[in-house]
Amino acid sequence: MAPPGIGSSAERRSGLPEGTSERQNIVVLDGGFATQLSCHVSTPIDGDVLWSARFLASDPEAVIDTHIDFLRAGADVIITNTYQADIDLFVQHLHVTKEEAYNLIKEAGKMAHTAVERFMEEFPNAKKPLVVGSVGPYGASLHDGSEYDGSYAATTPITTMKEWHIPRINALVEAGVDLLAIETIPCRAEAEMLVKLLKEKYPQTKAWLSFSVSQDGKSTAYGEPFQDTARACYDLNPEQIVAVGVNCTAPRLIESLISGINSNRPNNPIPLIVYPNSGESYNVEMGDDSASFRWINRDKCEPVETYIAKWLDLGVTWVGGCCRTYAIDVTRIRREVEKWKQGHRC
Ligand SMILES: [Zn+2]
Repeated sequence: MAPPGIGSSAERRSGLPEGTSERQNIVVLDGGFATQLSCHVSTPIDGDVLWSARFLASDPEAVIDTHIDFLRAGADVIITNTYQADIDLFVQHLHVTKEEAYNLIKEAGKMAHTAVERFMEEFPNAKKPLVVGSVGPYGASLHDGSEYDGSYAATTPITTMKEWHIPRINALVEAGVDLLAIETIPCRAEAEMLVKLLKEKYPQTKAWLSFSVSQDGKSTAYGEPFQDTARACYDLNPEQIVAVGVNCTAPRLIESLISGINSNRPNNPIPLIVYPNSGESYNVEMGDDSASFRWINRDKCEPVETYIAKWLDLGVTWVGGCCRTYAIDVTRIRREVEKWKQGHRC
């Protein structure tokens, strides 16, 4: 049986035994790409205008090794290092042409495929992992943290966002990714535009849709009711959206966001995806530009893996980590998923 929502080519890859129930079919994602990348490079990542995407140009082997770390840790999917990839920013900060910038995004897809190939050479009997193209929000290109409050939604025409998104999606699709991760989206308008764009321009491409949310445990980052927003976006394009959910928020906020989201849709439940950050806070006032000092309060956070069983009980079928989660955290998440599955064999 395929990971929920993915059919055809991906279906053959899941390799789950026949008769395995749908609820056994949990997909483990990777963790925070920039976080794990920091184990392979000595230059600062947080604080860079291109963030981890700079390393597509400066250190492709480190990018591939980071993907492999997650695969060895037990991830079923790896997400390309394109969250903050932007053609104009590449032109400006990497001093490349537009065409070279576009090709660099394609290269990101190829680096992920190379990681999968190397992993399969190492573990020939493993289930073949999926490559997922990261489509971060328009706000990530502004480099002002506005993807975490959605403030740009009030001032940016939706056509501007759409035109900005298209080249990167083109490059990722051309690179042959298995699906797209439309992620850390703070506002309904951008999410709806992307879901409709898939239908209009990329009818063969599937995607998950994941929001950044506010601290109240019930709203998108921009302040719209999360559950209404998630349902509306899913219903616009259930054929192509494989899951809807939340990423890069504190684990403690997840339960209230997703509880009951499907209670009025017994025959048409939304597949749920959750990949939180570690729960640490990012303090923009602290430290210098080598911003790892800005992550604070790690000692006050319950580890992500302690929440996994509860989220699976609530119907989550795609689960992983985002910022400040390492490959070791993916190992722990995988372990919790396997434990949960053992307890739910039918
Ligand atoms: Zn994150």
